[in-house]
Amino acid sequence: MKAPVPFSKPLYVSRPMLPPVEDFIADVRSMWETHVLTNMGPYHQSLEFALQARVGTGRLSVWNNGTNALVGGLAALDLTDEVIVTPFTFPATVHAIAALGLTPVFADIDPMTLTISPESIRERITPQTSGILGTHIYGTSCDTSAIATVANEHGLRVMYDGAHSFGRKAPVFPGGESALGDVTMLSFHATKLFHAVEGGALITADPELDERIRYSRNFGIRSEDSVPTTGLNGKMSELHAAMGIRVLDMLDDEIDRRHELGRIYDEMLKDIPGISIVAGLGDSAQYLVLRISKDEAGISRDELHDLLRPRNIICRKYFHPLCSDIPAYSSHPSARDLPHAELAAQECLAMPYHGGLTPSDVRRICETVLWARSEALEAITA
Ligand SMILES: *Cc1c(COP(=O)(O)O)cnc(C)c1O
Repeated sequence: MKAPVPFSKPLYVSRPMLPPVEDFIADVRSMWETHVLTNMGPYHQSLEFALQARVGTGRLSVWNNGTNALVGGLAALDLTDEVIVTPFTFPATVHAIAALGLTPVFADIDPMTLTISPESIRERITPQTSGILGTHIYGTSCDTSAIATVANEHGLRVMYDGAHSFGRKAPVFPGGESALGDVTMLSFHATKLFHAVEGGALITADPELDERIRYSRNFGIRSEDSVPTTGLNGKMSELHAAMGIRVLDMLDDEIDRRHELGRIYDEMLKDIPGISIVAGLGDSAQYLVLRISKDEAGISRDELHDLLRPRNIICRKYFHPLCSDIPAYSSHPSARDLPHAELAAQECLAMPYHGGLTPSDVRRICETVLWARSEALEAITA
């Protein structure tokens, strides 16, 4: 098979949306007039209002990044000792547990949804367990109702890392309030579909928890004379919030564009044995992820990654290595027996997927995947 022409510039998994620069400059000019740069100013409040409207459920507080929001959310739940977490996630999920001096205990994932398995959670519960932290990986929801059942049986708190969840049109959480657990985090980092350069949010349906979270976002301060809780600096600056408001206006068009590109990936790759598309075609347009089974496809994920890279198709091994293989966590006994997570970490590859790509770019990417597979198959038979 003839190799498609390599791309002359690198294609990354994601490319941040940017509003017309004049629009952003107009926002900056108004900040120059008011001198309000942070501390929950008008842009912060407008962004919070707009995001609340889009999410539709629970109470949403805007944070300066997703990792701080995770730490703030976990802290507000007053957890102790052990928190059960998925190993198949971005390191920030597990680091947030460790940052509070708590012990991450790993449960395996469901082999189909790649989210934390309720059965495996059940097996890892000890008298020291106080909470569960699941990730809606690639925007695919955890089994929130089964996890709520386990949590209720054992008196555990539940938090979700929803960093990938903002990749769909409203409703963002079709399961409504009950799908939020006690609290759900969002990330608005520049690599995410919706972004504010850096940013995040917490959503909870519990008004008391929401109040606590809002204090903890601002050093635990309730009023001039009262600091009732621990806290962080989780406030988003006005510059970031202004960017978020502009980018939010562009979000639905970007989702449509990505889904159109997703259909091309699907058409061109769906009949290839051993290669399946596990994210990007359904509701969430956050990532487009291939799963590659070496036995059936004749090429491994790593071989495909290495063949695409010199041709300027810069794919990402989301999520590899597993968090249970990070040295700080790998000595825990729960880090050993995670067969489904280990396989997923070997087989998943996020592909370029953003509105800056044209349909013909995506066709060329798929042709390059087919070419790479034929190279690998030839190497086997040769
Ligand atoms: C991006 C991401 C985070 C971190 O969010 P930041 O806003 O970059 O701090 C946490 N968890 C997951 C699953 C992520 O993808």
